[in-house]
Parts: sequence; C-alpha cells; structure tokens
Amino acid sequence: MTHPLLVYPARRMRVFCLLYPGSTSGKSDFLETRSRKIIMRVLKFGGTSVGSVEAFGQVAKIVARAREEDSQVIVVTSAMSGVTDTLINAAKAAAAGDRKPYREAQEDLLAKHQMVAGQLINDGVERAALGRLFESRLNSFERLCRSVDVLGELTPRGLDVISGLGERLAAPLLAAVLRTHGVAAEWVDAAELIVTDNNFGSANPLEEPTARHAQARLMPLLSGGIVPVVTGFVGATEAGISTTLGRGGSDYSAAILGAALNADEVQIWTDVSGILTADPRIVPDARTIREISYIEAAELAFYGAKVLHPKTILPAVERGIAIRVLNTFEPDHPGTLVVKEPKPTADVAKAISAIKGLTMVTVEGRGMLGVPGIAARTFAAVARAGANVLMISQSSSEQSISFVIRELDQPAVVEALEGEMAREIASHHIDRVNALEGIVIVAVVGASMKGTPGISARIFGALGEALINVIAIAQGSSECNISLVVARGDADEAVRRIHAAFRLNELNGG
Ligand code: ADP
Ligand code: ASP
Ligand code: MG
Repeated sequence: MTHPLLVYPARRMRVFCLLYPGSTSGKSDFLETRSRKIIMRVLKFGGTSVGSVEAFGQVAKIVARAREEDSQVIVVTSAMSGVTDTLINAAKAAAAGDRKPYREAQEDLLAKHQMVAGQLINDGVERAALGRLFESRLNSFERLCRSVDVLGELTPRGLDVISGLGERLAAPLLAAVLRTHGVAAEWVDAAELIVTDNNFGSANPLEEPTARHAQARLMPLLSGGIVPVVTGFVGATEAGISTTLGRGGSDYSAAILGAALNADEVQIWTDVSGILTADPRIVPDARTIREISYIEAAELAFYGAKVLHPKTILPAVERGIAIRVLNTFEPDHPGTLVVKEPKPTADVAKAISAIKGLTMVTVEGRGMLGVPGIAARTFAAVARAGANVLMISQSSSEQSISFVIRELDQPAVVEALEGEMAREIASHHIDRVNALEGIVIVAVVGASMKGTPGISARIFGALGEALINVIAIAQGSSECNISLVVARGDADEAVRRIHAAFRLNELNGG
C-alpha cells in the first residue's frame, strides 16, 4: 500500500488532500493527488481481546484491516484479561501483611506477557526490549507492594498506580505485535493524554486539557501513518499523578479520546457480538441489537450491562460520535451501532439488564405524612455519605421513601440517616431506617415503551406466573426504562422471564 507523503488539512478538519509519493507515470512525486475523506476511528480492545496469543493475533488482523480502509486508527487497549484483578488482589493482600500474592503475581505476570511476546514477536531485539520493559514495570509493582506491606495501608492513590500497570504492560506488547504484522505502531501512555481530577479509583477527565494533550501527542503520529496504541483505564492529574477511570474504564478511555480528537467512530471490540438483548451468560438465546440509541445504551450500561462502561456514552453523545460494539472473535459480524436516532424496529422493550450487589434502604413512619423536607434531608444525608442512589421509589401514601444503593455504601448511609433523623426517630415520627440487603435491580429498557400500553402488565404478568416477588418498582420520567427490585435469588429467572415475555430472542434482527 502507498502511504500518503503529505497531509494538508482542507476545509473540514478531516477532509484531507492526499499526495502520494512515487507516481506510476514517473513524472513527479506529486502526480497522484486526490481528495478523500479520512475516517478517524478509535478501536478499543477489552481484556479477552488481548487475553491470549490467538486473541492478540486477531487484534492485529482487525487493526491491519482498519488501516487498509485508509482510516486513521487509534487503538486503546485494556490489560490482558485477569491482570487487573491479580494486581488489585495482590496489593490488598500486601496491605493485610500477606506477601505471597504479590511475589507470585510478579512472576506470573512476567511469564504471561513474555509468553505472548515469545510467540508473536519475531525480532529478537524488539523481544529483548519488551522483556526489559516488563521486568522493570513488574519490579516497580513489587516495590510498590512492599511499601504497602510495610505501611500496612493501601491508599486509593497507591492503588491507582498499581492497578493501572496491566494496561502499561499490554500496550507496549500490542504495539510490538502490530509492528510484527506490518502495521506501524507506537504505544502511548494515556497519562500523557487524559488529564483527570484526583478522584482516585474513578477519576473524571478534564475536557480542555485532555483535548489539547491528545491532539498534540496523537495527531503527529496519525499524520505520519503510525497507529498510536494507548493504555486504556488510566490517566493522570495535571500534576502528573496516576489515576484510573474506574473498573472497566477502558471503554470510557476510548470515548474520551474519540471526543478529544473529534473522531468519526469509536469501536468497542469485545468477546460478544454487540449489545445483546440480555447478558448471554444469563439468557443463552439473547440476540444482538443492531441499532440502539445513546439513551437506551446508557440506561443498559448504568443498570449492569457490562459490555459498555456506563460513562462511555457521554463523550460520544456530546459530539454525535457513533459507537459500534463488535466481536474480536467474529469480526465480520455487524455488532451493534449506538447512535442518536436508531432505525425504528417492532420492539417495544429492547433489552433487559440487571445490577447486583445492592441494598434497598427504606425510611418509614406515619409521622412522615405531609411533613415537608423529609425527602430532601434523606438524600442530603445519602450524599454526605458519598453514596450514589441507583433508584428511588416512594409510596403514594408518603409513609415511606425507599431507595437503592450499592451494598458497600450501606453502613455509611444508614449511619448518616440515623444521625439526620435522630429527632424524628426519638419522637417516633419515623419508625426506622431499614436496610434490605442482597437485592438486584432488573431494568427493562426501550425507548418505544413510552406511550405503549400494557408494558407493565406484561412484565408483572411474567413475573407473577413465575411466583417472583417484586419488592419495588420505579419508572424513569423518560419512560425508556422500567426498573424493578427483586431478591438476589430471583434475579436471573426474572431476566429470563421478561426476556421471554417480550420474545426478545425472536424480534431483534441479529
Ligand atoms: P471487555 O473485557 O471486552 O471489556 P467485558 O467483560 O467488560 O468485556 O464485557 C463483555 C461482557 O459483557 C460479555 O461477555 C457479557 O457477558 C457481558 N454482558 C452483560 N450484559 C450484556 C449485554 N446486554 N450484551 C452483551 N454483553 C453483555
Ligand atoms: N483493566 C481494567 C479493568 O479490568 C479496565 C478495563 O478492562 O476496561 O477494570
Ligand atoms: Mg469491559
């Protein structure tokens, strides 16, 4: 393939005038000149997509093909599957005084990455350089864990340095594999690109400096025909301190970079063929949704569809960037296209998701009736405890307010509420603050549910038949989502029953 020599930005930022070197007629270096729109795509590969030698090989083929389509390609990679868990567990064990896990992890992770390099990188010099890089990263991991062990404490800041190491091993490896496959590639640490606040563990990107850094660092590579291979999941504060974007955050990294560079498309390459009508591990006959709206995809992701990190949609919506979810192991499958206005289908409900590990907190008492400000005080106390509310449901008699939080926030929330309502509890206006653990929110999502009668009847009919008790219900005002609370033990069956009631295995085109 002939590579463009010079790239002149034309009127729209990415309509370029390509000047090809070496003309077929031999008259001039610049004889073959034509206008062409260059498509810029961000391709993100998840943990399983870089989980084995075979998977790396697949990724190389996908990237090479994308380059042949004359696109500007930016690759974002996750850590190899299981690596982030290993790093985090080892660091936590170190904080508890257990040295064995981090020592073992150091050896295992070195072997894991070297094995891929050994099988896929032909060039001995390249392989040796990678080996040194792996060793130095993993030595620093060992040193970090040693200090965690000595201090007996793992701070969120320290954990971010440790948990981000997996991507910093995978990106140089993937770049080298791409080079072996003839794709000019260079790995880039996202700490140089994504500027975040210092909310360690779930850092938020700062738009303006991120766009500035990403453009300055990546555009020259792209113009030179080089594919940047960027570490997913990680970023850094303005002061250069390492942060992470939250578990599963590499999807978000791809969308952040897509927005920063005003890309045309973000592709999420994973181990399933797109966003399905339900998690295929729970509903084996779940089917691919061909097109879905940003809002629907965001609702599904928020309510537990792990295939997309919940924050991924936001940067894309703001710039109207399409997101495509594709299968690394079935690259010709069209997958799912996430856009503002998907083509209409016959489906009312589009998909069902479930989010586990939750607690429902109820503040109840007859004294709450008609007393203004109880709801405001309740949620102010929850916010002070630093917890996120996933769903709210209030009985029309105003005698109780129920809301759902993550199980790990429960102790802080209950304590904050009991403190806030101490007077009302003492005077028996509020009977108690009750926490019901082990619950699951099941969310039925679909924009066409709005204004379609009989949706609730179908859902509750299906659950009633299966004798599944619905603990609480909430419907968003957008009517794009109906959420139900059920007990943990009922959740999977509830998802299957609702999926069957809407015949989602049949109606969606796959
Ligand atoms: P990656 O490592 O590529 O980021 P993840 O494990 O984070 O992949 O996400 C993909 C997984 O999401 C799938 O293997 C699937 O089990 C799960 N999943 C949950 N809900 C859905 C859904 N509605 N559609 C597709 N996959 C889903
Ligand atoms: N490696 C990180 C995680 O396991 C980020 C990601 O895979 O998206 O959470
Ligand atoms: Mg993921």
